[in-house]
Amino acid sequence: SRTLPAVSAPTAERSLVLVKPDGVARGLVGQVIARLEAKGLRLVAAELRTLTTEVAEEHYGEHRERPFFGSLVEFITGGPLLALVVEGPRAIEAFRALAGATDPVKAAPGTIRGDFALEVQANIVHGSDSPESAAREIALFFPAL
Ligand code: GDP
Ligand code: MG
Repeated sequence: SRTLPAVSAPTAERSLVLVKPDGVARGLVGQVIARLEAKGLRLVAAELRTLTTEVAEEHYGEHRERPFFGSLVEFITGGPLLALVVEGPRAIEAFRALAGATDPVKAAPGTIRGDFALEVQANIVHGSDSPESAAREIALFFPAL
């Protein structure tokens, strides 16, 4: 019998992506989705919703001690956001690359933040930063998945 090829099939990974309230208010949902779909990421779930303070504090729990935490929670609960689960090979890293650096002024042009934002808090999108964060965040936003 023949041996299997050395290169294995890409393993699908999932990431939680948010189009934050600033992105929804500015009408950037379509452009964000167009970019991630063009990249090859597949939509697994999508829901427009306004977060409660409790869910927002849980989602950003790692930043609880930071001076901007209260402001961040107010911002992220300040209007509807679009929560997405995307899937594809190395989806977490792939979406973070599309999003660009946290500070939009430092984010490379061509990235979502680099093209559409100027302020560190109102930076249009969130993407999970590790498999552990993705699992935790997907369970928080889409417990049925
Ligand atoms: P991300 O993983 O690239 O989203 O960045 P972080 O996990 O470090 O921060 C989470 C979110 O908090 C960022 O996307 C910003 O919306 C916000 N943020 C980060 N740093 C600051 C800051 O210095 N000031 C304020 N007001 N918001 C910040
Ligand atoms: Mg982060």
